[in-house]
Amino acid sequence: MTLKGRFRYVFFDADDTLWENESYFREAEHRFARLLSAYAPAEKIAACLAEKQEENIPVFGYGSKTYLLGMLDAAAGICGDSFGPEIYFKTKQIIHELAYHEFHLMPGIEEVLKALHGKYRLAVATKGDLLEQMTKYRESGLYGYFHHIEVMERKSAEDYLAMAAKLDIAPEEILMVGNSVKSDIAPVISIGGTAIHVPHEVTWSHEMMEIPASDRVIEVKNIKEILNFLL
Ligand SMILES: [Mg+2]
Repeated sequence: MTLKGRFRYVFFDADDTLWENESYFREAEHRFARLLSAYAPAEKIAACLAEKQEENIPVFGYGSKTYLLGMLDAAAGICGDSFGPEIYFKTKQIIHELAYHEFHLMPGIEEVLKALHGKYRLAVATKGDLLEQMTKYRESGLYGYFHHIEVMERKSAEDYLAMAAKLDIAPEEILMVGNSVKSDIAPVISIGGTAIHVPHEVTWSHEMMEIPASDRVIEVKNIKEILNFLL
């Protein structure tokens, strides 16, 4: 299948498509489990944290600040009366190091953007905390390739419709590239767009979902393969 000539825009997911992200969250989760290891086994801590995340995301949105709240909720529940300033500040330190971790672009991404730049209008379609996403965007040095960045609340179908309207394109003209089936593939397919799934080795349980059956979904193993469809 070729997509050449059918699209003016290519939308790119940011976390784990442009730059590494999820592995830092998993590392923070391991550190948190070590911090509470005297109170509960690692699996119980992980399950409790995941539950608190699901409760907090609809209220506070995505990003590391919500993750901090989830950790503190979990720690208070697991440690009971032993929860105090030491656990509070050590948890906060874990999140601080998560938010200001070493920055790594995904392998091959810059080569892909360079090859597409000038042939397509490129846009970042991401979600989460505005400050965090914009800080990473600036740090990435990739902004020269992009025409637009949209930091959505949830990456719902409605969020994609609003982004398309802003760029003056029909939903059918959306071509989205990303690693998350739930956020990057399913909502785009549901509104008539086309999506390319580039899996990342680490996927957050919250983002797990079956790939929708559609001839508008393309699966590749490596980001560089998208050039075979676009050039
Ligand atoms: Mg992603």
